[in-house]
Amino acid sequence: MTGIVRHNGHFEWDGVHRLAYKEEGTHFKQVTRQVLSKAFPGLFAELRYFEVAPGGHSTLERHEHAHLVLIGRGGGHCLVGGEVSAVTPLDAVIIPPQTWHQFRATGTEPLGFFCVVARERDRPQLPSSEDLEALSADPAIKDFIRV
Ligand code: MN
Repeated sequence: MTGIVRHNGHFEWDGVHRLAYKEEGTHFKQVTRQVLSKAFPGLFAELRYFEVAPGGHSTLERHEHAHLVLIGRGGGHCLVGGEVSAVTPLDAVIIPPQTWHQFRATGTEPLGFFCVVARERDRPQLPSSEDLEALSADPAIKDFIRV
């Protein structure tokens, strides 16, 4: 094992499975996931690559662990820290603990992003109806979020 996980030129990496989420789940839509660091158990972190198809979105969630995200391709918008922001390639997005977050591919290209997380981490929490009500107090967030 050389430590190099070779990119194949198509936002896929040799030996890494592209885990296709269901076309449309309860909480996400048209998202694929690849874990680039799976074969390296000594690492404290995991490096994953997610891709959201145009019109799709990641799960609206929060959790105790933080995310470090680097946008890799396409464009879109994200909710983080109570704000909706446009993101483009090479933007870094830091998602602090217990912060509601969601990514949407709002352009014509897939939104691809790398996400670093701690290997040991808590499970994501989904918003309750009270949480959704509180989030929806801001019209920009109400308009943005998908559940
Ligand atoms: Mn998350």
